[in-house]
Amino acid sequence: MRIGIISDIHGNIEALTAVLDALKKAQPDQLICLGDLVGYGPNPNECIALIQEHADVVIAGNHDFAALQKISTESFNSHARTSIFWTMRQLTPESIDYLSGLPLTVTRDQFMLVHATPNAPEDWHYILSIYDAYDSFLSLARPLCFCGHSHVPVIVIETAREQFKISMASRLKIKAEARYLINIGSVGQPRDYDPRAAYALYDTDTARYELHRVTYDVAAVQAKMKRAKLPSFLISRLALGQ
Ligand code: ZN
Repeated sequence: MRIGIISDIHGNIEALTAVLDALKKAQPDQLICLGDLVGYGPNPNECIALIQEHADVVIAGNHDFAALQKISTESFNSHARTSIFWTMRQLTPESIDYLSGLPLTVTRDQFMLVHATPNAPEDWHYILSIYDAYDSFLSLARPLCFCGHSHVPVIVIETAREQFKISMASRLKIKAEARYLINIGSVGQPRDYDPRAAYALYDTDTARYELHRVTYDVAAVQAKMKRAKLPSFLISRLALGQ
């Protein structure tokens, strides 16, 4: 089975539409979304509706929980907080209903899915080093885990017991003898200095993983964010991918 995987859409409908168009050509059997449908971007309800229509499995991110007031915004920086308060005011009762039903993790036969980390999904830690990843590997329910949250695509591989390697590869064969934590990057706000929207494909039959990037109309999103008076830092970072 071929699976499309996306994460961190953040209310960016232009980026999400570009990714869905690219996925239409790839024709995966299933689409998975790893959370943060809202926050930062100007079209939260529209993104939720598109995800609801196209995704087969969806889990919650910290911005989704913050928009529902399920978690406090204390750990958010001022720009993220401003945008989440703006998002709260936009969300329709239908959107709130949908986000409220999203689980924190999903485990399938071959892999597990989480927005932040498998060891403490509700604490929203970032995996920024092998040390951060170590705790995650202790709680992997499957040898392969897909995650998002940092908006930076990266693969941490446990090649042998407690021996780790970091890979930035965009194509990888998943080996049965290793364990993998794969961050698939962000659709709506990439932070790896590449402003193009990210999406991944995983083939469960061939065990092949691929990360793809697609351009979208950044200026159109920026114009909408300006009209909505969202923080200028969030507007400019989209074009820089940082
Ligand atoms: Zn995010």
